[in-house]
Amino acid sequence: MKLLIVGPQAAGKGTQAKLISEKYDIPHISTGDMFRSAAEQGTEAGLKAKEEYWGQGKLVPDEVTNQLLYDRIQQDDCKNGFVLDGFPRNIPQAEYLDGITSIDKVISLELSDEEAIKRISGRRTCKGCSEIYNITSNPPKQENICDKCDNELYQRDDDKPDAVKLRLQTYHDQTEPILEHYKDKVVKVDASKSIEEVSEAVFKELN
Ligand code: AMP
Repeated sequence: MKLLIVGPQAAGKGTQAKLISEKYDIPHISTGDMFRSAAEQGTEAGLKAKEEYWGQGKLVPDEVTNQLLYDRIQQDDCKNGFVLDGFPRNIPQAEYLDGITSIDKVISLELSDEEAIKRISGRRTCKGCSEIYNITSNPPKQENICDKCDNELYQRDDDKPDAVKLRLQTYHDQTEPILEHYKDKVVKVDASKSIEEVSEAVFKELN
């Protein structure tokens, strides 16, 4: 099963993609996580992407992102499918993807800008395993420490207010049009509900 998960920042794409990945035993591929881990490892491309693009809430150029995605989906674990989170982010990326594979379904997580901004200000990410928490709606058991791997949590640079506004604008201008591009394959899910309610609705659509 080849899936895309689409939605504004803080709609819960990463969280839902992980649940889908566990249930259907397909890899969760997040281009954002790939850029963050390249920067943490100190690779030249990773540091450049951070400094010039994602640290400021801007999209990394398509040539770089498309190549990264292409290399990843050629790997053996993608033979039975994958769930893509954060790719494609615009029409040229969707057209590129259509040229290298075919997508079965697109899950659109629907959330208002107001709710997205509220959620992002509370979002914390684990430095070790990238698990996502929210200090009000989904806090870790111990303050600022990951339940899963005991590493420290942090606030992503691109979750800070100015970057968030730019990212939401970019989402509406560039990413939302891909829902029209894939219109026959899109299933819409109300992402304002709890993690469990959203995942139940997502699984219902996929079964
Ligand atoms: P995310 O975690 O998906 O919000 O991604 C974090 C950042 O990585 C984004 O703000 C972009 O700068 C970059 N990024 C992730 N995916 C893409 C993509 N498909 N195209 C361009 N930039 C991307």
